Amino acid sequence: MKKRPDKIAIVGGGISGLSAAYYLNKKAPHIKCDLYEKNDHLGGNIQTRTEHGFVYETGPDAFLHKPIMQEIIEELGLTLETIETIAENRISYIVKKGKLAKIPPGFYLMGPAKLLPFMFSPALSLSTKVRTLLEPFVPRQEIKDESLAAFVTRRFGKGNLEEITQAMIGGIYTADPKTLSLQSTLPKFIEYERKYGSVLRGLQKEVFDNNTRGPQYNKFRSFKSGMQTLIDSFENQLSTTSVLKNHFVTSIEKYNDQWKLHVNNQSAIYDYVIIALPAKAIGNTCHFLPSRSKQLLSSIEFASAIIMHFGFEKKQLDQRIHAMGMIVPHREQKSILASTFCSQKFPHRASDDRVLLRVFMGGAMQEDICQECDKTLFHLAKTDLREILGYKGDPIYQNIIRWPHAMPQYKVGHQNRVSQFFESVRNFEEICFLGNSFSGVGIPDLIQKSKDTIEGLLA
Ligand SMILES: Cc1cc2nc3c(=O)[nH]c(=O)nc-3n(C[C@H](O)[C@H](O)[C@H](O)COP(=O)(O)OP(=O)(O)OC[C@H]3O[C@@H](n4cnc5c(N)ncnc54)[C@H](O)[C@@H]3O)c2cc1C
Repeated sequence: MKKRPDKIAIVGGGISGLSAAYYLNKKAPHIKCDLYEKNDHLGGNIQTRTEHGFVYETGPDAFLHKPIMQEIIEELGLTLETIETIAENRISYIVKKGKLAKIPPGFYLMGPAKLLPFMFSPALSLSTKVRTLLEPFVPRQEIKDESLAAFVTRRFGKGNLEEITQAMIGGIYTADPKTLSLQSTLPKFIEYERKYGSVLRGLQKEVFDNNTRGPQYNKFRSFKSGMQTLIDSFENQLSTTSVLKNHFVTSIEKYNDQWKLHVNNQSAIYDYVIIALPAKAIGNTCHFLPSRSKQLLSSIEFASAIIMHFGFEKKQLDQRIHAMGMIVPHREQKSILASTFCSQKFPHRASDDRVLLRVFMGGAMQEDICQECDKTLFHLAKTDLREILGYKGDPIYQNIIRWPHAMPQYKVGHQNRVSQFFESVRNFEEICFLGNSFSGVGIPDLIQKSKDTIEGLLA
């Protein structure tokens, strides 16, 4: 950068843009900063709502407790607001032949860090268990970028992929395992193969030794009043930032040594612009980008998702509800991908006599279902829930939230495409790009990236 900026624009008020504004405000309050957000609220897909006594999340319902989150929680004074998952409910289910089976404790995304519970688990067939346990004998291969399906099939066999891993990992990323890049999502597993010659050995050394259990439910956190607390707390700290909601940035163009933003039929000039938009919106807004950069952005695909909530009286459901939730493998041929038992996962989501469930549909393997009308989707979700959980009567509350093209798909070659994109914009010095289109969809990773970016900019 040629000189220290006096005036910065941040475009996009999701967690990436908002946390960038927070760090800029904190570390350089003398710099004038305008934060542009097209909606009437900050946070992007992070929003908590309360209806009929149920507290629900429109998007993320939790974050992984990484060091950056501990730091932020302390800085924002949120220690007493932060909540952990309910300890006694830290189990989850997988649907097998239409019935619930407990995911074995110590099972970590694709393999067991603990052998005994895995061997006796009804969640997987005998042949899949045997093949999974033979993984240490599979020769090591160094493949730079491989799909989740190729990696798991090669190391653990097809049964493991179809019976559990597709639902566990594909579900998190709403992705098709045949195209999901392992390198861009879970490089640890590639590292285990490289370092120990086996994923199972790696899991036993690093996951078991660290005394972390299974899907690490002890590491998930939220806030008493929901994820909105994080957004509101960030916003409250923006004392020297102008927060411009309902401001749709239509285009950004080079203006001598500066940048000109066109917003709501007006324009404004800045020394530096931080763009925290999804890839497609970057392409639509940044007309100055070379066509190669635009091509690379448009090659990043997004899947759609549907979130539904169902509220029940506790007596309508049975004891199996005392869990974090359930995942549904694709081979079960159900409409739902997974369900979180919200009020059993975190406190303060429903009154003691009620239960709140959240259901996921759509994703890369079921994009078409997102075209269905609300009535059909409610019907499909309730049919699946009734068959699996056997609830009595009808839900006392229901809602639906649609997320069209909201989930970035890190396909094989993603890192390469992202590196090429950043290479193609290297000459534009006074601009940078943030957001979940590039690396890391999780809230902690996005906040960390914003922090690193602001520190780099001010260095
Ligand atoms: C249903 C769902 C569940 C999820 N669950 C979890 C979870 O449990 N834990 C977790 O860690 N992560 C989860 N994620 C992922 C995480 O929420 C996202 O990766 C993250 O919120 C993305 O933040 P962002 O700021 O990069 O992008 P966005 O949130 O997309 O922010 C972009 C912002 O830019 C604004 N904008 C767009 N165009 C313009 C324009 N032209 N002018 C001005 N503003 C504009 C948008 O309105 C938006 O506010 C989930 C995501 C979804 C959708």
